[in-house]
Amino acid sequence: VTRVLIAHPASYPAERRYACEVVLEEFLGFDVELRVEARCDWELTVAGLEGRLRMPDVFFAIPPARWLTASSLPGDDGALAATPVPYLAAATYQRQQPTLDLDVFGNAFFFLTRYEEAALDERDEHDRFPADASWAGRNNLLTRPLVNEYVDALWRAMQREWPGLERRPREFRLQATHDVDWPHVTRGRTLRQVARAAAGDAVRLREPGLGTRRLAAWARVRAGDFSGDPGNTFDFLLAESERRGLRSAFYFISGRTAGEIDGCYDLEDRPIRDLLRKVSARGHEVGLHSSYGSYLDPCQLSHEFARLRAVCRREGAAQAEWGARQHYLRWRTPDTARYLSQAGLCYDATLGFATRAGFRAAVCYEYPLFDLETGRKLRLRERPLVAMEMTVFADTSQRYMNLPRLEALDYMRTLRDAVRRHGGTFTLLWHNSTLLSKRQQNLYRETLDLLTARDG
Ligand SMILES: [Zn+2]
Repeated sequence: VTRVLIAHPASYPAERRYACEVVLEEFLGFDVELRVEARCDWELTVAGLEGRLRMPDVFFAIPPARWLTASSLPGDDGALAATPVPYLAAATYQRQQPTLDLDVFGNAFFFLTRYEEAALDERDEHDRFPADASWAGRNNLLTRPLVNEYVDALWRAMQREWPGLERRPREFRLQATHDVDWPHVTRGRTLRQVARAAAGDAVRLREPGLGTRRLAAWARVRAGDFSGDPGNTFDFLLAESERRGLRSAFYFISGRTAGEIDGCYDLEDRPIRDLLRKVSARGHEVGLHSSYGSYLDPCQLSHEFARLRAVCRREGAAQAEWGARQHYLRWRTPDTARYLSQAGLCYDATLGFATRAGFRAAVCYEYPLFDLETGRKLRLRERPLVAMEMTVFADTSQRYMNLPRLEALDYMRTLRDAVRRHGGTFTLLWHNSTLLSKRQQNLYRETLDLLTARDG
């Protein structure tokens, strides 16, 4: 493996090491060796080769007193010398003294660690960091995986300097995921609630037949037969994935911290145990959907994960690696990542914004998370969520972006093309409970076709 040597100033050594390891080792496939020098920029050399490449050191020049404070954040107006700024201008490269005018490592650190989320107090009604408060959201750049773009700029400069180098090859992949909030939509409901939902089907989903199915299912579910419940779309989801050679991930709620918000089922229910076995036997993935109140509660997270593993082991659905996604995408930087890592999860798939689809961490590759408080790289890896159906499609929710079908598909295409350009992973979230109507099922098929299309 090619070894890249990086000379840098003395400040923030652990943070610099993390950024260099993610960019050069994880993303590009090189070994790195860091060295502190009395200098005020980054300098890259390659073991055994002539030549050097310099980059400005901007982000890690933040004075320690301003670290993780709002005053250390980049402005929206472009380059200010004193503050770290995610450069937008095309990186310039000078031949005479090879310099890339872009702080690749500092910018990558800023986005990947969600630094701004730890530095700002803005929260929405679910205590989530709002898309509109993010730098990329404010600058309308959530559809661009900027970190991937910075890494490409670095790679192009490295190629000019060392033409023989090869980077790690990447291939586009679609990852379908399904949070199991309401496996059955008539279970635990009163007849009055089901009748109201049935009336809503006729108006909102323009599908009166669904209401009849709801009412019929309600009576049968009370008698213990869950097969006809309109929310029981798991066979459909499995078949659509298998037809396209996809391995779906199903995240199950394993604990209860917020009453009805955490759904209406228990892992020990017979239909749920049957489902866990089926998902596993058909080669798909089971994961944890950590409950609403778990994101700041390490004991609760550990308990929920242990319980899911115990039930799965008993049902013959054990796995070597486990991932999680937080219910409602509730997340606090850096606490939630630390707790998930401590609980023993291998990866998290929460980092997307509920209100706007795109690249919350500005990247479409999985990567290890970093604990901004302890200064440590975590074992937990992030697999960023690119789009949730309810964020984008008006036909699956009337909140958030609320786009009609064609505009929504266009938006998904934009995101897909960005992921494709970098050979990244498109993680899609589609709930079993938003496939109730024929219209919604067709929309799901259309979305999968779009995201798996060879071209166009
Ligand atoms: Zn959920």
